[in-house]
Amino acid sequence: MAAGDGVREAEVCIIGAGAAGGIMALELARRGIRVVVLESGPRHDLARRGDYSRRFVKGENPWESPLKGIDRYTTGGSVGYRLEWNRARGVGGSTLHWEGTTLRLRADDFRMRTLHGVAEDWPISYEELEPYYGKAERALGVAGTPDDPWASPRSTAFPLPPFPLSFSDGFFARACRKLDIALHHVPQARNSLPYGGRSQCHACGTCHVCPTGAKASTDLTHIPQAVATGHADVVADATVLRLEVDGSSQVRSVVYAGGDRRERRLSARLFVVAAGGVETARLLLLSASPDFPRGLANRSGLVGRYFTSHPMIDVTGRVAERVYPYRIGFSTAMSGQFAMPRDRQRRGAFLLEFLNSAGPLPGEIAPVSGAWGTALGQRVKTEFGRTLGIRIYAEQLPIAANTVTLDAGVTDYFGNPVPHITYGIGPYERAALKEAEEVAAKILATLGAEDIRSGPLGYAAHQLGTHRMGSDPAQSVVNAHLRAHDVPNLYLVGGGTFVTVSSSPPTLTIAALAIRTAEHIAEVYRGQGTIRRTHRSGVPAAGMAT
Ligand SMILES: Cc1cc2nc3c(=O)[nH]c(=O)nc-3n(C[C@H](O)[C@H](O)[C@H](O)COP(=O)(O)OP(=O)(O)OC[C@H]3O[C@@H](n4cnc5c(N)ncnc54)[C@H](O)[C@@H]3O)c2cc1C
Ligand code: SF4
Repeated sequence: MAAGDGVREAEVCIIGAGAAGGIMALELARRGIRVVVLESGPRHDLARRGDYSRRFVKGENPWESPLKGIDRYTTGGSVGYRLEWNRARGVGGSTLHWEGTTLRLRADDFRMRTLHGVAEDWPISYEELEPYYGKAERALGVAGTPDDPWASPRSTAFPLPPFPLSFSDGFFARACRKLDIALHHVPQARNSLPYGGRSQCHACGTCHVCPTGAKASTDLTHIPQAVATGHADVVADATVLRLEVDGSSQVRSVVYAGGDRRERRLSARLFVVAAGGVETARLLLLSASPDFPRGLANRSGLVGRYFTSHPMIDVTGRVAERVYPYRIGFSTAMSGQFAMPRDRQRRGAFLLEFLNSAGPLPGEIAPVSGAWGTALGQRVKTEFGRTLGIRIYAEQLPIAANTVTLDAGVTDYFGNPVPHITYGIGPYERAALKEAEEVAAKILATLGAEDIRSGPLGYAAHQLGTHRMGSDPAQSVVNAHLRAHDVPNLYLVGGGTFVTVSSSPPTLTIAALAIRTAEHIAEVYRGQGTIRRTHRSGVPAAGMAT
C-alpha cells in the first residue's frame, strides 16, 4: 500500500515497523485489535536480497532510503556518534541490517542504584520480564544453549540448538581454560535449523544482508503474520512528521507524508511511537505545541537526554598457525564473565566476543605489500588468516550531556530540523575498556600471539536511553508499561526506554518489553471498551481528520 492509500483511522497507530513496531503490530493484531503501522522506509522484498548482498559486498548500503536527505543528522561531543550503517529505514527497520546477537540482560542489570549506587534502578525486574524474554526468543527463533554460567535463570529452553563453535573458537577456548575464563556460545536470532517458515542458515557470511531469510528480521518474523490476521495494515513510505494533541493532552492524529511530500492525517485512539532511539526523541521534539512547549511528552525535559550506546574496541594479535577466518559471517563464542563485575560502581561491565573474522583480507594485504607476481602470492599466503580478534562491548552509564536535540540549521527531505547527536564517554566507560583490553591481550598472549594491538574506539549500533522509563514523572518519560507520563494515550517503545544499558546488545530486551506492553494495552484498553473498529475506505468517515 502506498502512503495515504485507504486508511484514515485506526484503533492503534504504530509509528515505525522495526523491531519494536513490528512486534507490537503482531501482538496487538493477533488479539483482534486493529492497527495501522506507518513506516517511513520502503518494503525490502526477500526476493531482492541476492542483489542487495552483491551490492553490500561492493561496499554499498542497500538499506539506504531513496529519499535524499531523509537520514541527515549532525553530530558533536567528544566521540561523535555517527548513524550511517548504524540503523536502517524500511519495513523491518534496523533488524534488516542487524547481526542478530540476542542476549538477555542479567538480573543485576535492572538494579544498578540498589546494588552499585550508580544511575537508577529500572521500574521492573528481570523476574517480571523473564516470561517475555522466552516469548521473544520463540518469535525471533533464537539458537542457543544455556552454557553461560553468568546468565540469570531462564524458565524456557532456547527454541533452536546453538551453532557449533568455530575452528578459531578452539584457540580461544584453550586460552580461556588456562586463564579460568568461561567461554560459551553466542545466542542468536538465526536459524540453526529451518524455523518459522524460514530456511536454515547457509553460512554464506553476508549477515548484514541475509539473502536466505535465515536471520530473523521483523519484516519476515512478525509483519506478514500481523497482516495475515486481517487486523493490521502496514503503510510503507509514510514518514510521520508530527503528532497532534487535543485540549486534553491526548494525541488525536499524526501528520505523515510520502515521497511526494503531501501531508496526510491519520487519527487513532492510541499511538505507539517505535521509530528508534534517535527518531522517536526527534519526533516528540518536532511535535511541540502550546500544551507541550518543550516537545510532546517532555514536561520532564528528559526527551532526548541520556543518549547511550555501547563503546567498543577490537583487540587483535597474530599467531603462527592458520586460524581460517572469514568463513562464518557471525560470531559463535563469547564470554559474559565480566558482565557481572564486583566493583560496578567504579567501572562498567563488559562482554568479550571472539571474532570469526579478523585481520586484513588478501585485497588489503596486496596493495601495501609492494610485491608482485610470485612474491606477492607468497606474501598474501604468509600473512592472511593468522590474526585472531576479540571485540569488547562496554557498559555505559547514562550521561546527561549525551543528547538527541533538534538542529534547526539543517533540514531533512521534508524540511524538518534534523537530529543533532552529542555523544561522549566518561571515566566509568574508559575504566571498563581499559580492563577489557588487558583481559583480551592476556588471552591473546596466552596463545603466543604477537603484535597484540587495540583498534580505535568505536560504538555499537545501539541507540538507547532517550525516553527512559521510571516511576517518577520528573525523572523519566514513560512508566513501567512504556506509557508516556504526560500523555495518557501515547506509548513509546524501543531502546529509548532503557534506564541503564548493561553490556548486552539491546534488541531481545526491546522485544520482550514490546510484547509486555502489547499485552498491557490489550488488557487495559479492551477491558475499558475504548478500542473500536478501524474504518478502512478511500472515503474518510464523518468527523475524521484528512
Ligand atoms: C549493523 C547493525 C547491527 C546490529 N546488531 C545487533 C545485534 O547483534 N544485537 C542487537 O541486540 N541489536 C543489534 N542492532 C540494533 C538493533 O537493530 C536495534 O536495537 C533494533 O532494531 C531497534 O529497534 P527499534 O524498533 O527501536 O528501531 P528500528 O528497528 O530501527 O526501527 C525503527 C523504524 O522506525 C522507522 N521510522 C523512523 N522515523 C520514522 C517516522 N518519522 N515515521 C515513520 N517511521 C519512522 C524507521 O524507518 C525504522 O524502520 C544492530 C543494528 C545495526 C544497524
Ligand atoms: S550466514 Fe546465515 S544468517 Fe548470515 S547471511 Fe548467510 S544465511 Fe543469512
